[in-house]
Amino acid sequence: MRKGIFYALSVLLSIVFLVEPVSSDESTGSAFITIGTGAITGLYYPTGNAIAKLINTKRKEYNIRITVETTHGSVFNINAVMRGDMEFGLVQSDRQYQAINGLAEWIDKGKQSDLRAVYSIYYESLTLVAADDTGIKTIADLKGKNVNIGYPGSGQRQNAIDVLTAVGLDFKTDINPEGVKVSEAGDLLQDNLIDAFFYTVGHPSEAIRDVTSGKRKVRFVSITGVDPLLAQHPYYSHSMIQVKNYPDVKNPVDVPTIGVKATLVTSAQTPDKIVYAIAKEVFENLASFKKLHPAYSHLTPAKMLECLSAPLHPGAMRYYREVGLVKSVK
Ligand code: GLU
Repeated sequence: MRKGIFYALSVLLSIVFLVEPVSSDESTGSAFITIGTGAITGLYYPTGNAIAKLINTKRKEYNIRITVETTHGSVFNINAVMRGDMEFGLVQSDRQYQAINGLAEWIDKGKQSDLRAVYSIYYESLTLVAADDTGIKTIADLKGKNVNIGYPGSGQRQNAIDVLTAVGLDFKTDINPEGVKVSEAGDLLQDNLIDAFFYTVGHPSEAIRDVTSGKRKVRFVSITGVDPLLAQHPYYSHSMIQVKNYPDVKNPVDVPTIGVKATLVTSAQTPDKIVYAIAKEVFENLASFKKLHPAYSHLTPAKMLECLSAPLHPGAMRYYREVGLVKSVK
């Protein structure tokens, strides 16, 4: 009986959400908006909060109330935005490309043609963290090891598979692949339950700082010798992890790897005025926004329109045209 009520309620709820992806309060006309982020110790979560804060402080002007949700990451966020469960999501630029083109996790579902880009933000590095006592010094050394490649729904999972494949390792047979949440990977490594894990994240990262300062010593493993991968997928570029951010890590010098960009996406169904507000507030407050995290320090309006493969949402486009960032009509 209780199960029945539960079922009926969830059907009712899903109908409400299907009919009205952007929920609003009739009496005030306020729109309630959600941004999907990542793990609480990642950088998507504080980034989502920083964006939300800019809009929420202007609630009277915009009538928009934004909440930020922790999620499993990029793939989860794109799917949630496409289902209409969330209006915005922070996602890796490579995942945005794959979703709009129906690749990787979207091969069966097809092109996510309602996906829209808003802006890109900071660079994220593929970060391969290994316990020092395992002797892992190169990606190839992962052979036979217990490696967390990422939870299904995370951005890093496909990145891990890509670099493993690039060095000739089959992730299903050459390593023991784990698929745990990134929020658990650090503890598993510290508890000797895994040897290494992948995390595609902006630096400095709280999660990485935590694991590097644990009892079991860790090192970053460089991701090099993957030039054909970069040539094949232009969304990957060279990147460097600065060890000065992690005083306890074993590496004496900065570690070369590859990276992607963190981007904000939405759906074609999201009303223009909401996307306009989200673009305008961040661009007009860029100087103070940049001070919130070192990863944002290189942001410029022009750079924030790079690495976007889904079409720009018309609400964002309106703002970019107004300020002369985008001239041609796309
Ligand atoms: N890049 C990760 C992902 O898409 C999330 C990183 C973060 O939360 O900062 O799954």
